[in-house]
This record gives sequence, structure tokens and C-alpha cells, in this order.
Amino acid sequence: MSRIIAKAAIRGAHRMVERAEDALAKAIEAKGKDAEVAYPNTAYYLPIMYLFLGQKVEKLGDLEESLQEARKLLRKVPNDELWLPYLGDTLDCGVATLIAEEAIEALKFVTGPTPVEGIWLSFTDDGILRTQGIKLVDGRMPGFAAVVGCTATNEQAVQLVRGMQERSILVFMAGHTNGRAVAEQLAEADIEMNWDTFLVPYGKEITAAVHALNFAARSAMTFGGIVPKGLKEAREILLYNRNRVYAFVLAIGGDDDVPEDQVITDEKYATAAGAINFGFPVISDVNIPEILPTGICTYEHVVANVTMEEIVTRAVEVRGLTIKIEKIPIPVPFGAGFEGERVRKEDMYVQFGGKYSDGFEVLRMKSMDEVADTRIEVIGPEIDEMTEGEAYPLGVVVEVAGRNFQEDFESVVERRIHEYISCANGIFHMGQRAITWVRISREAHKKGFKVKDFGEILLAKIHNDFSAIIDRVQVKLYTDAEKIKGSLEESRVIYRQRDDRIGGMTDEDVEDYYSCTLCQSYAPDHVCIVTPQRLGLCGAYTWLDCKASHQINEHGPNEPVSKGKCVDPVLGQWEHINEYISVKSNGNLTKFSAYSMLVDPMTSCGCFECIVGIMPEANGVIIVDRDHQGMTPIGMKFSTLAGQIGGGIQTPGFVGIGKVYITSPKFISAEGGIERVVWMPKVLKEEITERLKARLEDIGKPELLDKIATEEDAEDPEKLVEFLQKAEHPALAMAAMI
Ligand code: SF4
Ligand code: ZN
Repeated sequence: MSRIIAKAAIRGAHRMVERAEDALAKAIEAKGKDAEVAYPNTAYYLPIMYLFLGQKVEKLGDLEESLQEARKLLRKVPNDELWLPYLGDTLDCGVATLIAEEAIEALKFVTGPTPVEGIWLSFTDDGILRTQGIKLVDGRMPGFAAVVGCTATNEQAVQLVRGMQERSILVFMAGHTNGRAVAEQLAEADIEMNWDTFLVPYGKEITAAVHALNFAARSAMTFGGIVPKGLKEAREILLYNRNRVYAFVLAIGGDDDVPEDQVITDEKYATAAGAINFGFPVISDVNIPEILPTGICTYEHVVANVTMEEIVTRAVEVRGLTIKIEKIPIPVPFGAGFEGERVRKEDMYVQFGGKYSDGFEVLRMKSMDEVADTRIEVIGPEIDEMTEGEAYPLGVVVEVAGRNFQEDFESVVERRIHEYISCANGIFHMGQRAITWVRISREAHKKGFKVKDFGEILLAKIHNDFSAIIDRVQVKLYTDAEKIKGSLEESRVIYRQRDDRIGGMTDEDVEDYYSCTLCQSYAPDHVCIVTPQRLGLCGAYTWLDCKASHQINEHGPNEPVSKGKCVDPVLGQWEHINEYISVKSNGNLTKFSAYSMLVDPMTSCGCFECIVGIMPEANGVIIVDRDHQGMTPIGMKFSTLAGQIGGGIQTPGFVGIGKVYITSPKFISAEGGIERVVWMPKVLKEEITERLKARLEDIGKPELLDKIATEEDAEDPEKLVEFLQKAEHPALAMAAMI
């Protein structure tokens, strides 16, 4: 361990703790010890204090205690006589630094000025943590990088983050080098920075780097289900991060004119020591002393002197990220980091579908001799024959053939078209089936992107992801307003037939359900049992998806589980399912009800689209989806509820579900089903309104639609009950729920 680094880190830690103490003293003077201190929308208090101290900081007074603990962790700066050749002291100082930084950042929300300013996003709330967390779970995101400092030129900054976006690595940015920050360079280069593009600027000061670490800490608490109480749990959380969260720090030094002591400051060394506690190594382009032996990190702790061209590749190796870089023969970069990117009207070259023209996409099974593998046909004008700013029709017809392919899989593969096309840089895609909307940006056009390239993307991705069931793929792209009509009509018929076939399938029709254990990488005891009438709680896996996934990879996360003898038809329990759960939950669970939220409900990992919660006063349940930020009538926001029911435990009275399950005839049928629903957010109600109407028609109660309250009717229990009484909601007259 380098003495120079140890000295610098320890010096930096002392300074950071002093800064925090000053900031706190000022805040207390202005607001008093009882003033509240909190980050917005989190159930984890100040996560770093919660993690390392098990402390639930709520008031300024509590922070005094946190900083006293931080001070205890500070060690003397080693001189040449006093020298311990191990990392312990430096690492303790790293923890002290993180506690101090968390205090400084949180105090900004109390005393101002607000850290959410301009390009800077500051703290990540629990809602975003969960939506992004699922990308870590399903492998869309192999890990994250915390970039500190700035590059010599703006072009280098763009190249650096493009390199990470192409590998789907999430990028956090904090700190600056001599007054200049990489996020500012990106802003100057007009790069879109937000959670959708995987580029997250936290703050200009190095203290904002703590947000990357409190994100990591909460990931472990949310998805690993670890509740911090003291040192033992803190260790577990750090180990969890070391083993499962593939993250690293890039400390970038800027250009040659930066004074030496400004390149990597003591405070940066101290923060890096904090990150090393999480097992996140530091990679730098600067000639700083290296720490190579492995110990806390899986690999080297500090790797220096790496060129900017090499730095991403080197970081990936050091941290051991598994990355599939996709080389698709198109003229624009491709990767999950571009998936959420929008193309604004001003930046658009041409568009297709939406409300402007016909647009649809369909995937069909054909016989082997009907499909000429890798053939792409553009039927109608290519982009060179189009006029800038105009809308054109676009019909995407993908025809596949494979010995193991079944008609049922058509929709499973078709649904991926959206994701595939969105991953091209400069291409925007929305919707599916006959409601697609696509834009090609001017920049993509300038690089040479053509309509035919949609075909290239689909060929490459489908061959890559579905090689076990698909042998041949060909793509037809209709851009001719007349010629598109016939195939559009044909597709509408196919969509309808499919819905009838799949929509009509019941749990009783099948012998096997499917399991999904994908989220066990985060919630080790969690298993989803997916039935035709109850999809996985993340909303992404239906019974058919699981079936297809099993065909594609029989050792994958989805396997068929035969139901066996029915134990209880009302609760929805079967002998073999229960046996399976006992094994897969590592003996922590013994029973699972498919249709009850009160008796042995299914567990929740953390990815649920919605949470159903009991509301005894109303003798019913409320449903809240993750996009709803406001309060619910049971006195808890989505984020608070999520924190309490996640992690793979059974919490009777509460259950995480996928949106589609709400309108299933099996929706909490043991408790009386859809008639129990008394409240849901307005946006959610609107989103599912068609299916909800159909379901209520089916049970002969179409009037129930207006009796389900939203936040516009009530946000607190008294008001809600009043509303329900007035509306004569059926739940009030049903058998008591508890
Ligand atoms: Fe995770 Fe369940 Fe979705 Fe599978 S179905 S990805 S286990 S939430
Ligand atoms: Zn999950």
C-alpha cells in the first residue's frame, strides 16, 4: 500500500470531516437541532449513515452523533516512523469521508442552495433506484462507473462516455479537475444526460460522489433484502457490493496544464478510499501510485497511468464485468445506453407512424423454405428518396423459421423489436403492433443510417438472442403508402387471433406453471411463480415468455413446474409448487398462494410494477404503481411501501404485482377479486382503463369503474371512506377482510 496515497487519503478525510462539522454547526445555528434533514423520496434515511452506523438520521441533532462516529474513525496521518503496511487505517478514513460527504450533501437540502440545479441531478430517489435496479437484475446493465474529474478535450469526454454507453454501463459523474467537470464538457458537446441515457451528473463537488455509493448501498438493501443494524450487516452490504455490483471509479486528470496538487486532490483520494470499501477499484489516467494486490476489491485497488483510449477496456477487465459488445453492421453506435434516448422534432430527419402515417410491426413464423436468411427488402422509397422533416409509412415484417419455433413465441420475440431498434444511437422508437412511431435523427442520417438498417439490427439481434429457436430471419420494410396497406390489414387479423388464443388461456388449462428466479441475484430467496393468469411481478414475464425462455435456454432462470395435487383451489396452492418453493427459497418459505394476498402471498423481490396493500378501514385494497410519487390513503408512499415488502419475504396484506394481473379473473380472487379495489392513481387507472372496463363488464358490474377512487377523490383514509360510502362501493358490504 502506497504511503503517499495513505497520507493523502487520511489528510483528505480529516479535512472532509471538519467541513461537515462546520456545515452542520451553521445549519443548527440557523434551523435548530430539531430541524428535519432528509433526502427526497427515500425510505433509507441518509443511506450511508444507515449502512455504516445503523443510524436512522432524521434531525440535524442526529447528525452530530454521525459526525462524532466519523471523527472516531479518523486516524493519524502516517509519518515515516508510524507506518502500517496495510489498508485498514486508510479504509476507516474512507468511511469517515463518506459519512462526512453524506452529511454535507444532505445539509444542502436543508440550508440550500438546492443541489438539483442546471445539469446536476443530485440524490437518486428510491423510485429511480428500483427502475434502474431491474436493469442490473436482468443484465441490461453490466455495472456502473463513477467518473471524477474532466478530460483534456470535450471530444475525449464524449468518446469516454460513448464507450461506456455502448457497453451499457451506467455512468455517474461528480467532482471536477481544477474547476472543470466532465459533465460540463458533455453539456457543451450537446450530449443528452439523464437516467434514460445512462449518464447521470450528480454534482460538481467531489462530495456528490457519495450519491453513487449511497445508490450502491441502497441496491444491496433493496434487492439483497439486507437490513442494516450494525457492523455485521454493514459488512454483508459491502460484500454484496463487492460480489454483485460491478462498479468502478474513473479518476480523470484533465490536461497537462492542471497544477499537480489539483489533479487528484486529497479529498479525491479520501473518497476513493471510501469506494474501495465497497470493492470498487479506481482506474486513472494519471501517474498516481498503484495498489495492485487483491484484497478488499476482487482485483486491483488502484490502477494508474492508463491512456484515455484504453481506460474503459482496462476498467472492465479490472472489475471483471461481463460485457457483450454487439457489432451490428450499421453506421451508428448501438447499445442499451441509447435505449431511452429521444429524438426531438428539431433534431429529426424523418419520422414514421405515430399520428402522422401508417406504422406497424409484426413477427411471423414461416416454414424453412419461405425464409431466405439475412435477406432485407425495402419496399418503397429508401431514405435518400425522402424529404427532410416529412413523415412516411413504415411496416416492419419479420419472418422467422426454426425447428424449435412455435407460433406462441411470435409475440415474445416481436415484443423485443422496440428494445432492439431503440438501442441504435439517434433512433427513437415507441409503441408496438399497429401503433409504432419511429424517428431517425439528422445526426444518424448524416452518418449514413438507412431504412434498411432497421433490418440489419433485427437480423443481428434476433439471431444473437434467439439462436436456440430461430434458424432463419428475413425482414421486409414497407415504406410505400399503398403497398403497406395489405400487410397492415393482415397483421391486424394476426394480432386479434393471438389475443383470443392467449387471452383466453386459464390456469386450469395447463399442467405446468413456470418459475422465474432471475431476481435471485438480488433477492436470494425470491421466486416468481408465473401462471397463464398471473404474470411475473415485474410485468416483463408472462407464462408464454417463460415458456419461450425455457426453450431457448433450459438451464436459464425459467423452468416448468408441474402443479401436482391441488392443496387449496381458492388460495391457489398446489403440492409441487409448494415443494418447489421450499427448495428454491433455500428453505425460508414453505407455501405460496397464487390467488391470495393475505395467506402465504407470493414474495416480492423489488421490481414490482405495482403494490397492492390492504386498507382495513375500507375493507378493501389500494393499488399504487411505481410512477406515482404522491401519498396513498394507507399513509405510505410507493417508495416506503416498496422498502418494506421487497427483498424476497412474505408480507401478508401486501403484495407486489405486474399491472396486467389487476384485470385477471385470478386477481386476489381468494379475497374477492377486483371488487376489493378501492383506490389507485389516476394515471394507472387511465392506462389500464380498456382492460378494466372489459373485466367489469365480464362480472356484470360496469358501474364499479367510477367507484374506484383516485388521488383526485382522496389521499387520506377518512376522505376515502367518505367517498366510498357515497359511491356505495361494494367492498364496504363484502365479508370482512381481516
Ligand atoms: Fe424477477 Fe419475477 Fe420478473 Fe423474473 S418474473 S424477472 S423473478 S420479478
Ligand atoms: Zn425482481
